[in-house]
Amino acid sequence: MGLKKSFSGVSLPPQKVSNPAIEDTPLPKRVVLPLDQACKPVVEVGEQVKTGQLVGRSDDFLVAPVHASISGRVTDIRPWFDPRGSEPLSVIIESDGNDAWQEELHSDESFLEKERGQILRDLKAAGVVAIGPPAMPLHAKFAEPERPKPFLFLVGIPRAKPVDTVIINGIDAEPGMAAKGAVLQKNSSDILAGIKIVQKLLDSAQFVFAAGSNGSLNAPLTSELAGLGVKVFQGKDKYPLGLNPILIKCVTGREIPLPDGSEQDIGVAVVDAVSLLHLVEAVRDLKPQVDKVVSLSGAGMTAVKNFRVRLGTVVQDLIEHLAGLKGEPVKVIAGGAMTGAALMSTNIPITKETEALIFQTAMEAKRFSPDACINCGLCVRHCPSRLLPNELSKYCEFSMFEEAKDKYLLHCIECGICAYVCPEKRPMLHLMRFGKRELSLA
Ligand code: SF4
Ligand code: SF4
Repeated sequence: MGLKKSFSGVSLPPQKVSNPAIEDTPLPKRVVLPLDQACKPVVEVGEQVKTGQLVGRSDDFLVAPVHASISGRVTDIRPWFDPRGSEPLSVIIESDGNDAWQEELHSDESFLEKERGQILRDLKAAGVVAIGPPAMPLHAKFAEPERPKPFLFLVGIPRAKPVDTVIINGIDAEPGMAAKGAVLQKNSSDILAGIKIVQKLLDSAQFVFAAGSNGSLNAPLTSELAGLGVKVFQGKDKYPLGLNPILIKCVTGREIPLPDGSEQDIGVAVVDAVSLLHLVEAVRDLKPQVDKVVSLSGAGMTAVKNFRVRLGTVVQDLIEHLAGLKGEPVKVIAGGAMTGAALMSTNIPITKETEALIFQTAMEAKRFSPDACINCGLCVRHCPSRLLPNELSKYCEFSMFEEAKDKYLLHCIECGICAYVCPEKRPMLHLMRFGKRELSLA
């Protein structure tokens, strides 16, 4: 299957990924579990909890519940900084070292006989969150379409559109990210089981598997996918093909009606390979999402390594586990090399949205003094959203946020290409995010 639409982008250097595909990290002594704003704690300080026990829940359909990722005692419930720089209420649990599960995990081999409603309930109860952009509870991607949002009439989408295309995203989008390839390599039978579950949920949709150059699409997997009626899309080795908005455009020819629209509005559901693994564990094993496959790199590591990390593990504890790091990391970036953002401290927990961490030593964390824009036009030429990043960045720099909005700042998909190509090292992505944040607070 080939490209339906082309896009502007850049070729990035290939990365080395270490084997084994995924390693386990030791149980953390403490976890910090952030609760979404609409999520309320259902445990109290001093309470003993077991792994997988519900600690936070919400009545909002679009908010995933939160479960204890270790067994132990709730020592505090208080605001704590998360990777996004917000300070949500968080449940802090000190481990008892036992990892005692609330429900004994066992595979239900008849999971494919479950009814649609039961699958959705299991998925919602497990709190599985699909990686974005934007991140959202996975069950919401498969729900019945809502009434269309009023603005969609203006862009010619007058009716709620049922999902007719499911894209399994197996592309590790940028350097520093290798979790999808690792999961496809190590858990390919789970991925196939996950596709069968989603086919039960959306039986009339076409399924497309988007493969990257991470070597995960081997011959046996290709023939299994063909047996399930899944088409394979092998795109160009060009960034940002792996980001959902661009992937959708290339596979289906459709564009998400930004800034307020979503993939559901155009009848598409993108499920990344890592979330598909959690989906299978939720439906087949009734396992809540208590961990995450995270890619770690930098600070002298010669290849990207993937670890299964308990949610809520604090970054500093992970650094201590990686005893082989050469040099003390002075900067930690959450996310990949193109879209990641530096963490303000290492006392920040891994969340369901954390895909990768890049550690940088003092030598690696180069600081650049940005210069004024020289109007070379490189950022304009490469922007996959067809924006004018040079103008937008200047508006944001000089606090002219309404002007930036008028020039479609909210259509920026935050791919970071403008910053990557800018010869003057202007902090383009930071300026876009700053402008968007200021507009959201206005
Ligand atoms: S303006 Fe946004 S979409 Fe365009 S290159 Fe920059 S970050 Fe990417
Ligand atoms: S790439 Fe940098 S210097 Fe060139 S036009 Fe864009 S912002 Fe200006």
